[in-house]
Amino acid sequence: MEFKEHGSKSDILYWSKRLYQKEMSPSTSGNVSTRTNNGILITASGVCLNDMDENDIVLIDYNGNLIEGNKKASSEKIMHTEIYTKRDDINAIIHCHCPVITAFCVAGKPITKAILPDFALMYNEIPLIPYYCPSTIELADIVGKYFENNNVVLLQNHGVVLGADTLQNAFYQLESLRAYIQTYFGAEIISSAKSLNKKQIAEIRQLYIKK
Ligand code: 13P
Ligand code: ZN
Repeated sequence: MEFKEHGSKSDILYWSKRLYQKEMSPSTSGNVSTRTNNGILITASGVCLNDMDENDIVLIDYNGNLIEGNKKASSEKIMHTEIYTKRDDINAIIHCHCPVITAFCVAGKPITKAILPDFALMYNEIPLIPYYCPSTIELADIVGKYFENNNVVLLQNHGVVLGADTLQNAFYQLESLRAYIQTYFGAEIISSAKSLNKKQIAEIRQLYIKK
């Protein structure tokens, strides 16, 4: 299958550093990938997303086999390949343990409240996948299934996975999700997070369709 070139090593380095610097992927957690014409570029296992160079990014095929590079590909490589195999429209994937997003995963709650118009535009809800051991085929399988109908999922007691057409959009969507959760927590501390009502949600969605 031929895909338009969507990503490069420099793209991965740039957006990975932003993820770390925005405190969305602490220490050596998380992994980032992008589709290319020759396979999938993915971060190596066990690296800090802030401190990588081009040697810390490897090329793999759609079965997770190493095509190019001297490092071991991310231990979540099959989770990434499953998503790319299922979704032609996804060209970039970020998996991270962003602490505030992961708080929802630890509390065991999907994200359901449309408290902000941009959330109402993007999502009905963000589902929570039951706990599976990180880096296993079982986790990769279930994530692949959820991605048939979702672009972002929460992993119980683990983190978040988000796919988009480009790495830039994946980063922005993750940053918006983090901002949503910070706002949600703030509102809950002040009193309670109040959702937009059905009419308000329909109105914002209608406006977007007209654009
Ligand atoms: P890798 O360092 O192998 O990519 O794993 C990080 C991670 O987040 C595992 O779930
Ligand atoms: Zn992880």
